[in-house]
Amino acid sequence: MSGRLHGRRAIVTGAGSGIGAAVAAKLLADGAEVFTADVQGDVDFTADLTRDAVNTRLVAEAVEAMGGLDTVVPCAGVSAFHPLEGHDDAYFLRVLDVNLIAVFRLVREATPHLKAHGAGRIVTIGSTTSSYGDEGLCAYAASKHAVLGFTKSVAAELGPFGVTATCVQPGAIATPMTAPAFEQMPEYQTFWENKAPLRRLGRPEDIADVVAFLCSKAARFVSGHGLWVDGGAMGRH
Ligand code: NAD
Repeated sequence: MSGRLHGRRAIVTGAGSGIGAAVAAKLLADGAEVFTADVQGDVDFTADLTRDAVNTRLVAEAVEAMGGLDTVVPCAGVSAFHPLEGHDDAYFLRVLDVNLIAVFRLVREATPHLKAHGAGRIVTIGSTTSSYGDEGLCAYAASKHAVLGFTKSVAAELGPFGVTATCVQPGAIATPMTAPAFEQMPEYQTFWENKAPLRRLGRPEDIADVVAFLCSKAARFVSGHGLWVDGGAMGRH
């Protein structure tokens, strides 16, 4: 097999749907071996990733299946609109568990393998809400700000071992995550389409192409960085 990711061995979580599924397909198409995980869908490893031992087992099974590990792309995530008033603790903590703590645990467990490889890659999935807040998204935005900060710190710590860590920050992307909100509030979809100078929602493939670049040798000097992939929406006043 050839391709710019030939020889690379990646874990992609959230690969049962949306952006994660597109990322897994793109890394495969570019020649990587990919070990996929999700709580649902057609994946190699089916589990709820919010439990510590699960991430240890995921890394062990991926390393055994692929003979090593040099790339981690945690895409699994949850989101929903909840106003601050009446926002219950359990839901807030659940969002942090999936979007932040599971990412931390997976990256922690993968780190010895990434360091041993010498050119490891970590690409986390933040959001434009890693940089800005939004109404009804206090838990989600808190988790995504945290993922960006986590990624920058990991980049600082693992850079001396040749590992890069970057955070892709998608804008509004048409996936099963956003479909219910856009169905219930068509004006919200129109708002995002108009806010983006490119005048459309993103597609999962728009994100997957950027992730694949960041996983490739071409991105070897890009690290500690959050990158908006949002059709220009956030760069526009
Ligand atoms: P999606 O709902 O299509 O996919 C998310 C996947 O994560 C699902 O397959 C789900 O089963 C999985 N998942 C959720 N909780 C899990 C758990 N505890 N254990 C294992 N798997 C779990 O959503 P998407 O839009 O593809 O989102 C992917 C990532 O992109 C998320 O981190 C999301 O926050 C981020 N993102 C999405 C958008 C967007 O507009 N769609 C924008 C910015 C960021």
